[in-house]
Amino acid sequence: MADILYTYKNQVYANITNKCDCRCTFCIRSHEDSVGDAKTLWHKTDPSLEEVIAAMDAFDFTGYDELVYCGYGEPTCALETLTASAKYAKEKYGVRIRVNTNGLANLYYGRDIIPALAGIVDSVSISLNAPTSEEYDKVTRPRFTGAFDALLQFASECKDYIPDVRLTIVDVLPQDKIEASQALADSLGITLRIRKYA
Ligand code: SF4
Repeated sequence: MADILYTYKNQVYANITNKCDCRCTFCIRSHEDSVGDAKTLWHKTDPSLEEVIAAMDAFDFTGYDELVYCGYGEPTCALETLTASAKYAKEKYGVRIRVNTNGLANLYYGRDIIPALAGIVDSVSISLNAPTSEEYDKVTRPRFTGAFDALLQFASECKDYIPDVRLTIVDVLPQDKIEASQALADSLGITLRIRKYA
């Protein structure tokens, strides 16, 4: 089985699914099999809730105050495992919960899943990737049409349920795209984080 919990740069991450509804041009999955101390992040089959909890119980959380759901897939594609295991980790190990997501879960499920994250997820980091729908579709290649607008709606609604909501882009975007992304995030009242491209 692939690593479920792994560490990278003093953070601990949960890799709970390989499912994803995007095919981002920059996705690390296309050129590496692992990150940090993981041997591989490719599951033969996605782990069950019991397997995720067993991985948590086998991990020493000393020195870690946050668990980040981010692996070789979109964590909200395994929503029940995500929410149940995050609740477990929060209650048993006292960690804050962050989810790194493409923000398309409401499209994926065809319903509003954000209330299911309330009270469990402390922080959500949503990949904006580009300042317009056309550019977003080119770089992210989502399965769904209307993904960019759905992402923005998802981000806005998250503010009602989750204490810390961020949109992210990577610093390889040209300056004018970074500025347009910043203006878009500002118009939504959401912090924009500009990540270093690794
Ligand atoms: S959303 Fe994340 S996991 Fe999915 S293709 Fe894009 S970068 Fe990769």
